[in-house]
Amino acid sequence: MTSTIASLRAYLVETADLTSATALLSWDQNTHMPPAAAAERGRQLAALHRVIHQRLIDPELGRILDELEGLEDRHPANSDVVSLIRVARYRHQHSLRVPTEFRVRQAEHQAGSYQNWLEAWEASDFGVVEETLETTLDLSLEFSSFFPEADHPADPHIATADTGLTATEVSRVFGELRASLVPLVQRVVERPGPDSSVLYGPFPREAQVTFALDVARDFGFDFGRGNWAWTHHPFATKISPDDVRITTRASERHLGDGVFATLHEVGHGLYNQGAKAAGPILDGGLGRPGGFSTAIHESQSRLWENLVGRSLPFWQHYYPTLQDTFPEALHNLPLEHFYAAINKVEPSLIRTGADELTYNLHIMIRVELERALLEGSLPVRELPEAWRALYLRDLGIEPERDREGVLQDVHWYSGLIGGAFQGYTLGNVLGAQFFEAAKGADVEVEGGVGRGEFGSLLGWLQDTIYRHGIRFSTPELVERVTGKRMTTAPYLRYLTEKFGRLYGLD
Ligand code: ZN
Repeated sequence: MTSTIASLRAYLVETADLTSATALLSWDQNTHMPPAAAAERGRQLAALHRVIHQRLIDPELGRILDELEGLEDRHPANSDVVSLIRVARYRHQHSLRVPTEFRVRQAEHQAGSYQNWLEAWEASDFGVVEETLETTLDLSLEFSSFFPEADHPADPHIATADTGLTATEVSRVFGELRASLVPLVQRVVERPGPDSSVLYGPFPREAQVTFALDVARDFGFDFGRGNWAWTHHPFATKISPDDVRITTRASERHLGDGVFATLHEVGHGLYNQGAKAAGPILDGGLGRPGGFSTAIHESQSRLWENLVGRSLPFWQHYYPTLQDTFPEALHNLPLEHFYAAINKVEPSLIRTGADELTYNLHIMIRVELERALLEGSLPVRELPEAWRALYLRDLGIEPERDREGVLQDVHWYSGLIGGAFQGYTLGNVLGAQFFEAAKGADVEVEGGVGRGEFGSLLGWLQDTIYRHGIRFSTPELVERVTGKRMTTAPYLRYLTEKFGRLYGLD
């Protein structure tokens, strides 16, 4: 039995190494690759994905798993052995459902689609990518069809991102949030907002990123086990447990992306680095599905970006450094004005630049459109129009150009449609739920943040969340960390208190 476990581990580790190679090729594609290489890169990725998929459906893996049948009962639940077998079994069975031929077609399509989106974005013309997106929708529905037991075509996509979650559960949480959030946003935007013109530069890009990366070091991101690069659309990725990459973009005209988008990706990076403690495969080495939960991952990027990085204690410590970095712009600006400016609530068109309050409305719009596309009630060609209508309904504004509308996010143009967005808002909800739990556990959170010391917060997160890797499902982990199921109450408490104070609400 011990040797069979060793065989399983060796088999999976070799598969994870191939997964690492795809992650590196994708990272390169989004950072340094010359655009002309898109088709070749698509072929290379497709070749690797084919090999990985064949390994996951290989009868040899099935035979090893059969041999281990019943072993789970003789080991503690959630022990390394039991967790490893569970992950392997899930991936084997899941992979058998999705034909290799489909995977190859999907990978080839995605590489071309991403390049196509770049052209459409440059031209700010949805028409350039419309036909490609129709194929993406067909592929997304074809993927759903491999799971005929699903109640909704979005379910298999959501499950790919978050094992155990369904469209119904997402709707429950979103409904709960929306009911309190919409009136709160209305009350806030009726009040006079702070002057945020101070955030419009020029702020040299390199200086913004240098500042953010210094903070990353203070947070505890280990640059001996990771690095960063410029990109078009920021992301973080794990090549391997000791090779975690974050990417960033910055605009000279605004302080937002260079600082806050970088801190966001650093949050993802901290989680990736911390998960090494779970050991091979349980550190998420096989990727999705059945890998990291996007909602949990996003809870960490949001926690570090917003709950820490947009808090008053954080800036009480870091504002003098930022003033020294940009003396002309910030020297005469009091901390309170700066803090109000970076937390200004204002309906806007671009998701990634949105404030904490309206951000979730951007996500709910995308999820609503995804559902409509999958249900067949919205044709792809009407997507830009539908996008504008929902922005007008929820935010009271609409984009004039596709670049500020339906083309702004890479997700539908580099993956499938149906499970790409809910994780952001679920991450906001869970980030607040975890943060409240950390404070309740007597971890010195705010005092530490106010001194630029993050060791006790990171230590608590490492201990309760990161070190488990993918050992627990999303609901199980939430329950273990907070003693409760996923709930919007802590997040709504946080938003009401923070923005109530900033905007002088009763
Ligand atoms: Zn993120």
